[in-house]
Formats: sequence, C-alpha cells, structure tokens
Amino acid sequence: MSEPAATDAYVALGSNLGDSRATLAGATEALADLPGSRLVGASRIYRTPPWGRRDQPDFLNAVVCLRTSLSPHDLLDALMAIERRFGRTRDGERWGPRTLDLDLLHVDGVVLDQPRLTLPHPRIGERAFVLLPLADLAPELELPGQGRVTELLQRADTVGCEPVD
Ligand code: ATP
Ligand code: CA
Ligand code: CA
Repeated sequence: MSEPAATDAYVALGSNLGDSRATLAGATEALADLPGSRLVGASRIYRTPPWGRRDQPDFLNAVVCLRTSLSPHDLLDALMAIERRFGRTRDGERWGPRTLDLDLLHVDGVVLDQPRLTLPHPRIGERAFVLLPLADLAPELELPGQGRVTELLQRADTVGCEPVD
C-alpha cells in the first residue's frame, strides 16, 4: 500500500499564561515529533496585545509549517492533545488567557466548513498576531476565500505586535 501524500499544514501557536517562551519551544518540538510529520518552517516569535478580551496579559505568538501525512482531523486531535500536555484547560471563557492555543490555520488543498474544523481558519484576516508570523513563512500563500497573506497583512492592525529576540 502506498503512503498517503504529505501536504503542508500551517499551525498557529499562542500562549499568555505560565512560561510562554518555554511552552512555544516545547510545543514546536512536540509538533515536529508527530507521526508522519516533519517541521519545514518556524516563524519568529511575536509579542502581541490580547485580542477579543483585552483584560489579560500580552501573548506570545508564532506559526509553524509541518509537512504531514496526517489527515486534517487527525492533526486537529493531535494539536488538542499537545495543548492538554502543556496545561490547557477549556473551562474558561473563549478568548481568555491560556497556557497554549494551537489552531490549524490552513492545509494545502483543503477547504472545510464544519464547527469542529473550519479550514482555512475563518479569523486569520482580522488577526495581525497570526498574519505577521505566517508572513515570515509564506507571504505569497493564497488562503481560499480570504486572499493572499501579504495583502491581508497590509489591511491588518499591527499596533503593539513586535518580534521578540
Ligand atoms: P478561535 O477559533 O477564534 O481562535 P479559540 O482558539 O480560543 O478561538 P478554542 O476554544 O481553542 O477557540 O476552540 C474552539 C473550537 O474550535 C474547537 O473545539 C475546535 O474543534 C474548533 N475549530 C474549528 N476550526 C478550527 C481550526 N481550524 N483550528 C482549531 N480549532 C478549530
Ligand atoms: Ca485561537
Ligand atoms: Ca484554538
């Protein structure tokens, strides 16, 4: 039997609770170790103001690209397992503080519109904290239904978003 074809998948990482630097580094390692997957790119890390609910600490955000033969649903399950491993609980309010949030932004060639998994992620265009790191990796990427990353970034509000060294 032949192996399933590998596709590029872009994953957003965010953290604003605990040791966020260590969490992003550990989560990136965990993503690189997923079965049938390898890390093909990692953005800079950005410090960004909170989005959705302002009364919480700044976030650290990054994006990585995996080449993977996991299905999008299996990849989402794996992302949620990594979130739990890094102390993510889902008892707070949406868009509240969290140790780790892993969102599947885009999988090449895949468009899905299900509550459990929507691809591309529907709120990329309104989020500088996603577009800045995504533009480090794939500025020319065309997100179906949303547009090209660089063009979305030109329209985004990047105030307060800075790469950390
Ligand atoms: P947002 O989706 O606006 O970034 P959030 O990351 O805070 O908000 P969560 O509580 O982490 O939201 O996830 C809510 C649900 O979103 C999850 O149960 C998951 O099944 C669903 N979901 C749908 N599409 C995606 C996607 N592309 N990536 C990650 N989760 C998704
Ligand atoms: Ca999110
Ligand atoms: Ca999420």
